[in-house]
Amino acid sequence: MTHKRKQIAIIGGGITGLTAAYYLQKNEVDADITLIEKEDHLGGKIMTVERDGFTIERGPDSFLERKTTAKHLVEDLGLDDQLIRSATGKAFILSQDQLHPMPQGAVMGIPTKLAPFFSSTLFTFKGKLDALKDYTMAKTEVEDDISVGHFFRRRLGDEVVDRLIHPLISGIYAGDIDKLSLKATFPHFLETEKKHGSLIRGLQKSTPKKQTGGQKQGMFLTLDGGLKTLVDGFIDAVTCEVLTSTGVSQVEKQNDRYLLHINGQEEPLEADYVIATTPHHVTQQMFSQHEFMQELSETKNTSVANVAMAFDEDAVKNLPDGTGFVVSRKEDYRITACTWTHKKWPHTTPEGSVLLRAYVGKPGDEEVLELSDDEISKIVINDLKRIMTIEKEPKFKVITRWYDAMPQYTVGHLQRLEKLEEKVNEQLPGVYLIGNAYRGVGLPDCMDQAIRVVEEIAEN
Ligand code: FAD
Repeated sequence: MTHKRKQIAIIGGGITGLTAAYYLQKNEVDADITLIEKEDHLGGKIMTVERDGFTIERGPDSFLERKTTAKHLVEDLGLDDQLIRSATGKAFILSQDQLHPMPQGAVMGIPTKLAPFFSSTLFTFKGKLDALKDYTMAKTEVEDDISVGHFFRRRLGDEVVDRLIHPLISGIYAGDIDKLSLKATFPHFLETEKKHGSLIRGLQKSTPKKQTGGQKQGMFLTLDGGLKTLVDGFIDAVTCEVLTSTGVSQVEKQNDRYLLHINGQEEPLEADYVIATTPHHVTQQMFSQHEFMQELSETKNTSVANVAMAFDEDAVKNLPDGTGFVVSRKEDYRITACTWTHKKWPHTTPEGSVLLRAYVGKPGDEEVLELSDDEISKIVINDLKRIMTIEKEPKFKVITRWYDAMPQYTVGHLQRLEKLEEKVNEQLPGVYLIGNAYRGVGLPDCMDQAIRVVEEIAEN
């Protein structure tokens, strides 16, 4: 009897799909692999632009070193000599029309060092006292799930949440902290509370002390040339069939195999395994004949935009020494954050220039994306002028709109996902749904999901 090689189709050529393709190949999984991407380029949300000596990221700009998968992947691709670490420097919080330095020792906004917390200009005295209730408060009762906002407000008070924790978390999820699922986003804080009875005490014990004499290091990594270098690394390394400008419209189950219908092509592509890494609303459409996939529509998205602006050095004055700021909740600003990219990532900016990257779009203000480029940059520059001096127009700007790009892990996310995955395993064996809508939005989280699926397929 002839042994027919398995066919694996990976739909979507963003970081999740590329990681899956690479590790299937690296682990020598005995199969024919096809990666199918709708656009004419790979990388998905990773998009680096080179212009006049500037390196500008339209999407993600880096990954957290602490989540080690990304660094390992870079090493596997032989790109580790191109790793660049973010510069250290003060990060600021914009609140009450002033930039306040991030209190030293704050971990995702949770104070671990009381002296800097108490001397911080960001909070009122009452706000500070409220946070100390965390030391004596009873543990949080959580049956299935609660919102991140509920958890932190109860322990640390509204002020610390609205002024500090919310804007930091928004920088990752672009979401509403009072709707975001604690279990799907920060389960370790619940664990810390459970173990130590207090978040502050727990983090004080578990946060590594800085080594004396040791240099403080930036926590984020990118590559020389931007994250595009990572995508190029995959392109060089991956030898499987890669179909770009090829959109999958439907995935149909036929006996124990799958037929992938491709836009504009008569012949479907056959596969034994389908790894769908497409945005979840696209995935739902592909599998729309299965009622249970409707569940994917429960995960809503936020739309965001960012504006990168290149200036001559003398055009921007009064820039405090630091790497950027986030904007507290309830402030009357439309920007949500701004990175002083030339300070955080000096390699991106030619000598004598300044590169700022400001962010707009949040729940309740997504219509900002509908404005023209000129209107968006006017809003951004007017907001920035309230806290710094900008004397000249940018030399150029790059505006990127990301529609429905930030999936919202609302309360109950993991329970809904587990139910869905059970149904998929039962009714669509060999189909895997992975990517930023499921088990983590950061680049390393997406890579982790891909690696898990590769391991599962390799074991079969
Ligand atoms: P995607 O990158 O969205 O890839 C999905 C792919 O599927 C796309 O290439 C798409 O074209 C393709 N596709 C869609 N429809 C079809 C179809 N019908 N057929 C075939 N292919 C299709 N994370 C970090 O860790 N660090 C950061 O600094 C960071 N910053 C961010 C900034 C922004 C503005 C955004 C939007 C996200 C940021 N993230 C960051 C999150 C991170 O970028 C994403 O979670 C991650 O890139 C998602 O990768 P993915 O492969 O799952 O999805």
